Parts: sequence; C-alpha cells; structure tokens
Amino acid sequence: MSVLKPGIEERVAEVRSRIEKACLEAGRKPEEVKLLAVSKTFPAEAALAAAQLGLLSLGENYAQEGCDKVDWFRANHPELSLEWHFIGPLQSNKTRPVAEHFSWVQSVNRMKIAERLSSQRPEGMPPLNVLIEVNVDGEETKSGVKPEEALQFARDVAALPNLKLRGFMVIPTPEEDPEKQKVPFRAMKKLFDEANAAGLGLDTLSMGMSSDIESAIQCGSTMVRVGSAIFGPRDYGHGH
Ligand SMILES: *Cc1c(COP(=O)(O)O)cnc(C)c1O
Repeated sequence: MSVLKPGIEERVAEVRSRIEKACLEAGRKPEEVKLLAVSKTFPAEAALAAAQLGLLSLGENYAQEGCDKVDWFRANHPELSLEWHFIGPLQSNKTRPVAEHFSWVQSVNRMKIAERLSSQRPEGMPPLNVLIEVNVDGEETKSGVKPEEALQFARDVAALPNLKLRGFMVIPTPEEDPEKQKVPFRAMKKLFDEANAAGLGLDTLSMGMSSDIESAIQCGSTMVRVGSAIFGPRDYGHGH
C-alpha cells in the first residue's frame, strides 16, 4: 500500500485551482469538469481524507482492492454518499463484484465485458454508468476499442438493459509537451461530438490525469481522473 503524505488539503486546493484556471483559459465553467480522486494503492483512510475535503467521486483500478474499500466505507462511513468509479483493466472473471460495488465502469472495451456487467448488475440497483475506453493512439499493445469501431460499439453497449452509456474514456501515451498531449484529446473530442451528432446522448468525456489536466480541459474533457497530484506518489511494491 502507498502511504498518504501530509498535505492532502494543499494538494487538493492546488488541483482545484489548476482546473479552474484551465477552464477560465478555455472559456469553460469549472462546474463542467468533474474531479475524480483516484485512490488506487492508497488505504481507505486516504480516500476518507479526500472525501472529507468534498471529493465524493473516487476511482479504483483493481477489483479486489476497490471492492474492499467500498465495503469499508459502507461499514464505517454509511453517512457518506460516495460515487465509486472502476477505471482499471477488467477481466471477465471479475465483472460480478465490480457490477455489485461500483456506480461507474470507465474501462469497458469488449462486448463480453459489457454483457456480463449488464447481466450481473443486481436487481434494485440503478443502471451501471459506463464509459467506453478508446485506444485513440491505435497502439497494438494498448487496450481499448479502435476509434473507427467506437461508434458501432457504443450503439451496442447502449442497447444493453442494465447499463447506462455515458461517454468515452481515454488513457493516451504519456507526453510532456502540451501540444503533443492535445493530439489524442482533440481526436477524442471529435469522436465524442460525432457520437452525439449520431444521437447517442453522451455527457461524459473522461480524459486528463495529474500531468495533463490542462491539455485535457482545453480539448473538452468533462472529467479528470487525478491520483498522484492529490494523494502523492504511489508505491506499487506490495501486492500489485
Ligand atoms: C492511475 C490512473 C489515473 C491517475 O493517474 P495520476 O497520474 O496519478 O493522476 C487516472 N486514470 C487511470 C485509468 C489510472 O489508472
């Protein structure tokens, strides 16, 4: 597990001001961009510290760790109404606990996964919000739906009964140069607009992480997923 360094309050304030400044520069309203706090590898107490600062949407990458954290909050802090997002690679044998614990899955990239999530979403729970992960760079080694197949895939996912398709998610190859960061983000925004022109009614474009928040917001992101800029550096030494 990673260790939460002191100063989360300052770091959250810094991230919020980066978002506001980027929105201002892009002529957008800060309310248009949701901040998802990515608590993966950090203990539940770190996620609690974020929640107490008003970050009620939390992102997790690993099914077991994420479900354990959701259970911990249900048991210890039932007063907090948190929105849990699964954002990591999802194997088909892990779809059931994810469908049972999370409100959102951002990493839907195969029909089999979407079908299982839909059929395993428990009765009585609202539909599971989903995003389609798009492999916008087209790199063979990366997961995600090919951009040219994304629209048809989106229509197929939208037709599943217990899922609510909300939009797209992208994890581009890391770049330091803002101009390079914007290339895949612009391509995603174009795809998002095309999907909406085709009537898909999407409201969420999840793009931007700690190092490229500004570029993503300039290109139309509606949700940034921020881990290390909030919680500090991660330690993958134990378990992952
Ligand atoms: C870890 C992770 C993040 C957060 O990354 P940071 O660089 O720490 O902000 C965002 N999205 C996904 C899919 C991740 O796996």
